[in-house]
Amino acid sequence: MNADLVVVGAGLFGLTVAQQAAERAGARVEIIDIRPHIGGNAYSRMDEETGAEIHQYGAHLFHTSNERVWEYVNRFTSFTNYVHRVYSTHADEVFPLPVNLGTINQFFRAHYTPKEAQALIAEQAGELAGVEAKNLNDKGIQLVGRPLYEAFFKYYTGKQWQTDPADLPASIINRLPVRFNYDNRYFKDKYEGLPTDGYTAWMERMIDDPKIHVTLGVDFFDESQPLNKAALVGKVPIIYTGPVDRYFDYALGELKWRTVDFEEVRYEEGDHYGCPVMNYPDADVPYTRAIEFKNFNPERREQQNPDKTVVWREYSRSAGRDDEPYYPVNTQDDRDLYQQYKQLEDKEPGVIFGGRLGTYAYYDMHQVINSALTAYDKRIHPLIAK
Ligand code: UDP
Repeated sequence: MNADLVVVGAGLFGLTVAQQAAERAGARVEIIDIRPHIGGNAYSRMDEETGAEIHQYGAHLFHTSNERVWEYVNRFTSFTNYVHRVYSTHADEVFPLPVNLGTINQFFRAHYTPKEAQALIAEQAGELAGVEAKNLNDKGIQLVGRPLYEAFFKYYTGKQWQTDPADLPASIINRLPVRFNYDNRYFKDKYEGLPTDGYTAWMERMIDDPKIHVTLGVDFFDESQPLNKAALVGKVPIIYTGPVDRYFDYALGELKWRTVDFEEVRYEEGDHYGCPVMNYPDADVPYTRAIEFKNFNPERREQQNPDKTVVWREYSRSAGRDDEPYYPVNTQDDRDLYQQYKQLEDKEPGVIFGGRLGTYAYYDMHQVINSALTAYDKRIHPLIAK
């Protein structure tokens, strides 16, 4: 191996760093990944039968308000004008999400104006007026009042996290806007869209450079293959984007993650839900949501099968060591443990930790790219620039 930089993990953090290192420092980069494909959890593939782009690790929707990130990603792909909208089936009725005036008026069988709805929610959230909401439960009640919280968030969150909402950070629910108008865009960002030729084509273009070499299907901790931790640490700068606790052989204990199982259902009809994502916030449905991939790409209708569709139901459970980690649980105990791991990182020569797994962070794609660009500027470029 003749690399100036080794990147462990071909997700968006690793790919961004590799791209920057090759372009800005002329570095030769070796990327390794344990999986047989690049892209991390943003990887997608085409489904032949339906013509749908299946997001192999669950729905990925790109959105950002960060100008630098938007400019950067547009170097490698254009984006469709897809706008994410989600619906929620509660008590046998379909409601729009995120909670907006349409949700509120349908739920209360009313015709409130924005001002009236705001007053109603304030009254229903009154039990927590003036309290600083430190956890998901209190934040949820403050945002939408108890009746809507119980209908749309309480059991969904129970299924998604299996953790008392009082132990979860308020930031999880802050991801969702609440609006006192009929705007039901899921995200509040300036830019939004899906990569025109799919996620995988986008990410392949990021590393289309003869200085970047990718080795797939190898485990950094497997000493029987040459690109392993013992052989490389201290000899070449390393960007590590795998689970931080695994790097240290779980020496301080395990950080808790949620994983997701998918159940595929195929229908002999062109469109089953009429939307890409249907959430199931009630306790009697075991899955959290159903994803109908064709509906992410209405601009590809002509290439899709008009008579068939594919849906993935999403089930959340706690991740064991052999499962794919998706969501950091982030209770106070987890956050304390992560801080202890961070202290161990300081003793690792030339290893920089990044990405969702490497920093135990509930990052979206744009946040991962931003953190990779920043890490490259501040810490990686000085390390490898000749
Ligand atoms: N959430 C909920 N009901 C919903 C949608 C979201 O209770 O119908 C809560 C839940 O706790 C979830 C969080 O809001 O984990 C964030 O939701 P988001 O859709 O942003 O999650 P992701 O798409 O990352 O899984």
